Amino acid sequence: MRPIETPKFKCSAGDPPVATNSPTSEQVKYTTCYMCACRCGIKVHLKNGEIRYIEGNREHPVNRGVLCAKGSAGIMQHYSPARLRKPLLRVGPRGAGEFREIEWDEALDIATLWLGRIRATDPKRLAFFTGRDQSQALTGWWASQFGTINYSAHGGFCSVNMAAAGLYTIGGSFWEFGEPDWRHTKYFLLFGVAEDHDSNPIKIGLSKLKARGAKFISVNPIRTGYSAIADEWIGIRPGTDGLFVLSLIHELLRSGKVDADFLARFTNAAWLVIQDEGAPDHGLFARQNDEPLAWDRRRNTLVRALDADASPSLVGERKLADGRRAVPVFELIARRYLDQRYSPDAVAAQTGISAATIKRIAAELAHAAFEQVIEIDQPWTDWTGRQHQRMTGRPVSMHAMRGISAHSNGFHTCRALHLLQALLGAIDTPGSFRYEPPFPRPIPPVAKPAGPAGPDKPLVGTPLGFPRGPEDLVVDVNGLPLRIDKAFSWEAPLAIHGMLHVVIANAFRADPYPIDTLFLYMTNMSWNSAMNTAETMRMLTERDASGEYRIPRIIYSDAYYSEMVAHSDLILPDTTYLERYDCMSLLDRPISDAEAAADAIRQPVVKPDRDVRPFQDVLIELGVRLKLPGLVDAAGKPKFPGLYPDYLVNHEPKPGIGLLAGWRGTNGECQGTGAANAHQLVKYADNGCFWRDPIPAEALYFKPWNRDYLNWAVKKGFLERPEPVFLQLYSETLQEFRLAALGHGRVRVPPMHRDRVATYFDPLPIWYAPFEEVSDRGDFPLHALTQRPMAMYHSWGAQNAWLRQIHGENRLHIHHQLARRLDIADDDWVTVSSAHSEITVQAKLTEGVNRDTVWTWNAIGKQPGAWNLAPGSPESRRGFLMNHLIRDLLPERDGGYRYANADPVTGQAAWYDLRVRIRKAAGHHSHSEPAFPPLNLPPLAERPDVLRYGAGFRSRETP
Ligand code: SF4
Repeated sequence: MRPIETPKFKCSAGDPPVATNSPTSEQVKYTTCYMCACRCGIKVHLKNGEIRYIEGNREHPVNRGVLCAKGSAGIMQHYSPARLRKPLLRVGPRGAGEFREIEWDEALDIATLWLGRIRATDPKRLAFFTGRDQSQALTGWWASQFGTINYSAHGGFCSVNMAAAGLYTIGGSFWEFGEPDWRHTKYFLLFGVAEDHDSNPIKIGLSKLKARGAKFISVNPIRTGYSAIADEWIGIRPGTDGLFVLSLIHELLRSGKVDADFLARFTNAAWLVIQDEGAPDHGLFARQNDEPLAWDRRRNTLVRALDADASPSLVGERKLADGRRAVPVFELIARRYLDQRYSPDAVAAQTGISAATIKRIAAELAHAAFEQVIEIDQPWTDWTGRQHQRMTGRPVSMHAMRGISAHSNGFHTCRALHLLQALLGAIDTPGSFRYEPPFPRPIPPVAKPAGPAGPDKPLVGTPLGFPRGPEDLVVDVNGLPLRIDKAFSWEAPLAIHGMLHVVIANAFRADPYPIDTLFLYMTNMSWNSAMNTAETMRMLTERDASGEYRIPRIIYSDAYYSEMVAHSDLILPDTTYLERYDCMSLLDRPISDAEAAADAIRQPVVKPDRDVRPFQDVLIELGVRLKLPGLVDAAGKPKFPGLYPDYLVNHEPKPGIGLLAGWRGTNGECQGTGAANAHQLVKYADNGCFWRDPIPAEALYFKPWNRDYLNWAVKKGFLERPEPVFLQLYSETLQEFRLAALGHGRVRVPPMHRDRVATYFDPLPIWYAPFEEVSDRGDFPLHALTQRPMAMYHSWGAQNAWLRQIHGENRLHIHHQLARRLDIADDDWVTVSSAHSEITVQAKLTEGVNRDTVWTWNAIGKQPGAWNLAPGSPESRRGFLMNHLIRDLLPERDGGYRYANADPVTGQAAWYDLRVRIRKAAGHHSHSEPAFPPLNLPPLAERPDVLRYGAGFRSRETP
């Protein structure tokens, strides 16, 4: 690297020269930001081996050089005084934070001993759950090699409703798997997206919309972040988004504003559904030779629904060959949603949105979709071989996230949203929502969840998958759950991301069985990732009659000293994101956009100055010690002696397909699929740590039905076959489950779950009041929400010296009118009660919130000592968690059974269902309650009382 010259000037003759501008850095390394989940490209400036500053990478497809406050503050995350320094073994009682430092050999010996015993007896006694890490392609694979079905990451806590509804309806999803057509959309509806989600891409996209004058409506009970710059803010009542969407559908159907051609060609709207109440195939598709049937309105006959020459009818009742009745899906849609209970007048009071507003938005959607059509002069060919001269689209797009997802009715709300998109013909057409490769995928994706393996055996498949029907559930012969979190059981059949939020509660109660070891990575389960914080701490620390902890062993890996570290037995300290390799894989969470497939890596930009190791390396080494089949060869030698970087390059789940798709082939000549390339990581590093492969112009839209796209996706290894993906507006999979609940089929549903499955497995979207609302509305009249601030990502930010200056403490935000009624002023202390617990915190009045809702920033409050914060830090005195108020299980039902506080289809944690009441707190208060005792600290870096980062630079540079 060429040295940068420092300009030197003399004030006057004879004066010594003065350096007016010293070079910021002597070296720049590219990597990928991990201050949130958006995966922006960054350039890290280094001097004397220290990080000087972080800059956005202008060439990077995710952020195009944009860097947010969090991204810049990555320096403080890297130099955080909370960083763990060496493996730790608990010596005091759990929760006290008393540890002794041990060597890595001892740590790995202990872990191998514990895990080896489990694997040799009953592998599912290991519960291996990870948090917001981005290496699930590795961790999931490791779990299957170990042989435990008890694995998942944090999706069940976050947004599995969004993912499952998307994957079972449109073969794709929002978040990082799809995006609005920012260049062409004219009307953009954003549902429940906090400002840190898909942060820089959405910010860049919104600036494009604003520059073009497109209309942007934000539907969100809270007006901050994106909602604050929306053209219109709809402060909806939490949990009623589905009702609002179904009312929009009602209006579109009533006014005939639907895209019949799109529905007939690209969805199952014309497929005939058997109408034979009580029969075992009632509600399934009418088929001939396994192919769905439709009614041809020109030929007046039954035809194959996928017949390219058919003119399928969307309405009417038809007679099948066996004399039974059948109707097209669209007829069922029209019958259901034209009902007056979905009319704007009927839903206005429940949603808090006036009937006039709902009618206007429906009319505006229709106007944008049908009167402002976008035409792109680009020929394309559909899956039947028909040529189209132009790409014609509906410039209406939508995006949604956890705000609609984290409710007990979230799955159906997300499905309703996809139905609305499809009715408008606004899926992967110019101007609308667009898939990002490797999506779209078959509906549902092909992998099914694996069942348990025997001792010393790997799973046959992966722990997480996509059930197609009752026979794919992970249950025993009596229909009882086999997984510790009860995912893929009758309690949550489509829990495709697992149910992290109930693992501790279930393990504590030995329901359905006790576990031996809880192995966690990067998830603060005893604090802000618990739905029920104090109770979770109790479960982690309570002993049984023999004096043993009810969860006997806990192994935890993280880079920082958190509440979860204090509640664990063996700590395997991780590096920061600037000290290791990571992989944003197309098999997992890629960085693709709608116009290209893309993936990325992180590479170490500095060496650890502590005795810590990348968790991925540790996991591979543990696998070798345990002799897991994928990790050792026949002679028992490591298959990946170079640890994670070696695995990234050389592991192939299928021949020619690896974790990284770029520069495959011996010489890097292949893109997508190809042989492993020993120099692949160097290629990535030389290219700014990312790879991007543009989709050909003729394949850019209509991806699920575009012959060129399907062929391209097969060539790249994203699809097995170039088969079209028809949107499943009516879900036969859901109907299969419902039929089982009604007593049909081979698989029997345990009696206690039958009504629940029959009710919530409706093949068309439904809306029902969130469960907490049904039980608590009278006593707890308010909704309570949390959201992450723009400047912080979960609790990580609360240890970051720069970001703490933006949010060092949080308040409960209350609407002015509500506050006036309750005689509450700014900074007053208020007591917030739920059916579960109570907190006392300070208030902040606002206009920007739904009047029946209170809210706060997420994960700012800390237990004293956690993150190595100073005693009396604002985070531990005035910060607080709403999590204390949320229960993990719903109230007891007849027979004593308690369901998870979750969506009944997917098991998504329903923490946005929370209902509370508030009152002005009695007496004097100086800190938030509940308060927790200070944690002891293991050896950590000295915590500076006054931050002078950079002062050292100058002193070292001054001669
Ligand atoms: S949006 Fe997220 S990934 Fe991008 S710079 Fe900010 S913190 Fe980093």
